[in-house]
Amino acid sequence: MPTKEKFYLTTPIYYTNGLPHIGHTYTTVVADVVRRFKRMRGYEVVMTTGTDEHGVNVERAAKKAGIPESEFVARMATEWRSLWYELGLNADEFVRTTDLKHVRTVQWLFKLCRENGYVYKDHYTGQYCIYDNAFVTDAKPGDNCPDCGRPTETVTEENYFFKLSAFQKPLLDFYRKNPTFIQPETRKNEIVSFVEGGLKDLSITRTTIRWGIPVPGEEPHVFYVWFDALTAYLSAVGGPEYERRGMWPADLHLVGKDIIRFHTVYWPAFLMAAMLPVPKQVWAHGWFLMDASKMSKSKGNVVLPRPIANMLGMDALRYFLLREVVFGQDGNFSYDALVTRYNSDLANGLGNLASRTAAMIEKNFAGRIPKPAARARQDDALAKETQSAIGEVLERYENMEFARALETIWGLIGAADKYLTSEQPWALSDSEVDTQRKAAILSTTAELLRIVTVLAHPVLPESTAKVWSLLGQPGSVSDVELDGLRWGQLAAEVQLGKAQALFPRVDKTEAIERIEAMANEEQSPQAAPAVAHAAAAATGSTGAAAAPAVSERIGIEDFAKVEMRVGQIKTAERIVGADKLLKLTVDIGTEIRQICAGIAQYYEPQALIGRKVAVVTNLAPRKLRGVESNGMIIAASVGPEGRPVLAGFHEDVEVGARLK
Ligand SMILES: [Zn+2]
Repeated sequence: MPTKEKFYLTTPIYYTNGLPHIGHTYTTVVADVVRRFKRMRGYEVVMTTGTDEHGVNVERAAKKAGIPESEFVARMATEWRSLWYELGLNADEFVRTTDLKHVRTVQWLFKLCRENGYVYKDHYTGQYCIYDNAFVTDAKPGDNCPDCGRPTETVTEENYFFKLSAFQKPLLDFYRKNPTFIQPETRKNEIVSFVEGGLKDLSITRTTIRWGIPVPGEEPHVFYVWFDALTAYLSAVGGPEYERRGMWPADLHLVGKDIIRFHTVYWPAFLMAAMLPVPKQVWAHGWFLMDASKMSKSKGNVVLPRPIANMLGMDALRYFLLREVVFGQDGNFSYDALVTRYNSDLANGLGNLASRTAAMIEKNFAGRIPKPAARARQDDALAKETQSAIGEVLERYENMEFARALETIWGLIGAADKYLTSEQPWALSDSEVDTQRKAAILSTTAELLRIVTVLAHPVLPESTAKVWSLLGQPGSVSDVELDGLRWGQLAAEVQLGKAQALFPRVDKTEAIERIEAMANEEQSPQAAPAVAHAAAAATGSTGAAAAPAVSERIGIEDFAKVEMRVGQIKTAERIVGADKLLKLTVDIGTEIRQICAGIAQYYEPQALIGRKVAVVTNLAPRKLRGVESNGMIIAASVGPEGRPVLAGFHEDVEVGARLK
């Protein structure tokens, strides 16, 4: 068997001072997409992520939580790991900087740098906060501590220094010989001019921090931030024995634009000093902004991934993150845009094409994909368009142009919709000739759908697997070799799989409300783990800013503003085009109201008639999917999907009675 070419990629080793938000999720999603794409191109792929667990912030957070540092970081690592697992973002390696294998690697790298003459001991002078026991990076004499606001003092301590200044020329030579090392191009110019401006030696140990990897035989020296954290990429794939695993150097480090300098200047310099192979590429992406400002815990505008995944599915979030913004640039995040894309591109686009194609094959060919005897010119035209899109999509993925890759794929979906509209298979009769024509149209559409499914798989792993089994295609879509993909490979005369809901359409207002409610719940002090809050508090961000109003107590006068009454359901029916809504008429004693309720997936309309429910009667009327709703039925929201359970009464109550 031929040996596969390897591909090693990493996300940053995330700092455990809080829980993952959409920024971390973005990097990890991109890494996961690249990983799946490269596997489908036949590479042996390893993806690494992990947690950066040392430093003074962790020391403080652990103290605040009243537990040892080791226990604090173990809890944080578990939370990060389980969130990634929950979101289907499972890296092949999860490295913790407190792992023994990592500790060994850092100490080994230091030894190599020192043996080669690039490490020396000197005095470091900086602004120090006595209260927080920490140097304040980039502070000048007279500056206050950003964490506690107290004045800093100028303190000198003995440190080990790395001779970064010796690497100005080697780095510039390296950038020249490896013109694609720094991506995107705009970042490259920024780094090159930074290095051309001259490099200062770098302090890589501290004696004022306790919670770190010790420098062997040099206690109390511990390694400082970057020498520790960056090395995790190497420890994940073997450390000192990296040659055995065969994955080093990394092919791709994915980073946020704020940490590109450390990855393209410090990291290659450390490796050059140790005479180890240097990574092939560092790709810096932009930030998702909320209302044009950077997300931060203190601003309370952090977007969390879990509520979105619960409401719309993880595929929807993956699609949005990659489709909305050109990779490398900053973009705006808004729930409105997210749900709009979901409804237009996923529900009405891919989801609709898949379900209508399957429904027509079901109806006309008893659920077996037909094999046409002849094809028309327009069928061949669509085949040609699809075939030429394949190469284009692969190239765009390869160049990290995810938005454009998806644009091309969705162009095919649009072409199929147009084709169906003009061919109108539903208008054809059951005559021999018409049936032959229907066979050609539906097999052409199914083949396009198969190719779209394969091409979209790296971004939409869950839903494309569903379409694949709906089409009754053999094996798993993730095993399809992208380079062998071409028109005409559709397995015909196979039975379609069971239809399953792909992307049910959602009411925008309702969906956003649900996502926000779940996000509030996750960020409330009661719901979130104590350990995360201690960390948030310790890093100076105010958990309170992000905390929702739900935990706030209200006076009786506020409660009295809400009028709730016993109502009895008189009629109930489904609303065409709204899978989740039921239209109800409810007797509230004084009048009959029309009320929409998002319970259609869990309650049969017929079973509701006569049932007594709790109704908010003084809510301003609003329209849900074009239907007026005058009041609100109270229901509990149960489980991660928010399954509604109607509130009711165990004893007989009079219709119209007020709830107090
Ligand atoms: Zn301070």
